Amino acid sequence: MTGTELDGRIALVTGASRGIGAAIAFSLAMAGAKVGVNYNTSRESAEKVVEKITQGGGEAFLVEGNVSEEASAEAAVKQLISQCGQIDILVNNAGINRDRLLMRMKIEDWDEVLDVNLRGTFLCSKLVMPQMIKQRKGRIVNISSVVGLSGNPGQANYAAAKAGLIGFTKAVAREVASRNVTVNAVAPGFIATGMVEELTEDTQKQILDKIPMGRFGSAEDVSQAVLFLCGDGASYITGQVITIDGGLIA
Ligand code: NAP
Repeated sequence: MTGTELDGRIALVTGASRGIGAAIAFSLAMAGAKVGVNYNTSRESAEKVVEKITQGGGEAFLVEGNVSEEASAEAAVKQLISQCGQIDILVNNAGINRDRLLMRMKIEDWDEVLDVNLRGTFLCSKLVMPQMIKQRKGRIVNISSVVGLSGNPGQANYAAAKAGLIGFTKAVAREVASRNVTVNAVAPGFIATGMVEELTEDTQKQILDKIPMGRFGSAEDVSQAVLFLCGDGASYITGQVITIDGGLIA
């Protein structure tokens, strides 16, 4: 069953071929939005996301593109706007991590993580902005992380990128608020997707012991908060960060 709150809205979700991005694409589509499912390399799994949305009665289509490369990000956004004539929602979800202690971190580990998480968000936001301003309507949601608020050993690059996203969110929110474009961020804690499933059982247990709710979050826990920020109920909320972490950094 599809909802109607986002009927007629066009959304782009970056890195939507699996995990949190796929859940966000699904939630937005089930609320009535037509969703561009972006992927970089995982075409087959992005096709499955589109298929699941279609089977659920929603509308979605593939958008190929590497968000960290200017020409590729531009082609992806242009494809979406020329295909749909508008863009109402951008969710900057594409992200990677390359965890190592600082002393062992290679320059490439630093650059790649900053490029996808932060540069990608900058590029995609900049590319959709003229259209959103023209429409006098738009929603941008950036997927940060609790690590951007609290830090985490072994993740200096990732924490810097995710903290950078929070500053970016607040600055751009102030720039475009008068044009009825809102820019918010969500900061998930430990969510049971590939990123967390890769951790050893021991590390998973240590983390669980620190989460007051005693469980990892689900991709849907994140997608429901993003859906709220994209809906009419959040029209006066901008420049904010919603933490979704089961109480981890409360
Ligand atoms: P995931 O399962 O590893 O999925 C990452 C997604 O990003 C994939 O769809 C991947 O697509 C895409 N991607 C990677 N590089 C890309 C690029 N250059 N251009 C376009 N797409 C790209 O990750 P996840 O756990 O769902 O995380 C999603 C977001 O939530 C990330 O920003 C992550 O930092 C954030 N987050 C996750 C957690 C967690 O616990 N899982 C917690 C806090 C924040 P391809 O395979 O096609 O490249």
